[in-house]
Amino acid sequence: MSERDEVVVALDVGGTGMKCALVRPDGSTVHTERHATGAQRGPEAVAGTILDVAVGLAGKARADGRTPVACGIVVPGVVDEARGVAVWSANVGFRDVPLRELAGTRLGLPAALGHDVRAGGLAEARLGAGREADQVLFVAIGTGIAAAHVVGGSAATGAHGAAGEIGHILVRPGGPRCGCGRTGCLEAVSSASAIGRRYAELSGAPTTAAEVADRAAAGDPLAVEVWREAVEALADGLATGQALYDVSTVVLGGGLAQAGPRLFGPLRTALRERLTFHREPRLVAADLGDEAGCLGAALLALDTLAKESR
Ligand SMILES: [Zn+2]
Repeated sequence: MSERDEVVVALDVGGTGMKCALVRPDGSTVHTERHATGAQRGPEAVAGTILDVAVGLAGKARADGRTPVACGIVVPGVVDEARGVAVWSANVGFRDVPLRELAGTRLGLPAALGHDVRAGGLAEARLGAGREADQVLFVAIGTGIAAAHVVGGSAATGAHGAAGEIGHILVRPGGPRCGCGRTGCLEAVSSASAIGRRYAELSGAPTTAAEVADRAAAGDPLAVEVWREAVEALADGLATGQALYDVSTVVLGGGLAQAGPRLFGPLRTALRERLTFHREPRLVAADLGDEAGCLGAALLALDTLAKESR
């Protein structure tokens, strides 16, 4: 236990819910809470709820005899971490919301604002499945596909806060339409939603990606084909990722990674077939589950404190 039992306030804001925690400097969680985001109420109301929840968490820490020392908030979409601004988010509705300044002022504490997937990648790289590696690509595969490239414990943000959008690597020109408006993006073929949708299109029965994986394992030819297409497109995307980043470890998270060996076995083979002179990365499942984003928010808060004390 650190002196004065210091904690940081951490919030991972999603389209439907917020995962919140009080986290010690060693990464251990002492308290968790969940709240509804209520995105349908509009971005101002959501920002208000984020600040109220953060204040509530700081109060909870003090009531338990702990000292809140900083706050970290992560949100989806495009996030300018240098300026602390939530630039754009489709599912929360943010347009240029200066959340870091708002939180810092409201709490009277140093604050950090980050991107949910980059923060999740940071946590996996420092505390989770990538902790033995210095160069990690974290890929979250759920309704979409996004990634974080973490080097030396820090996730690259990009010049405009949009680094790591590997879901929009073009893998199948003229293929299925993506949410971004183009056709053939990786996430339009290999995201959990895309796999369920593709099987439903072909079979006429609504299905989840997990069911497609089960049916493929049981020998359903249609499921085998849909799963194979998704794994091959994912291998194409990861091969591009490896050409760009040359990491030692790729950590796969999100719902699709729960397919376990049904995903990892064929994916390793397909990726190996695509690599020429690039070294094959270790391909592992994420460790931290849906806590990763919240732990990443805590790490960003702690990093902010470390910078200030330098
Ligand atoms: Zn796209």
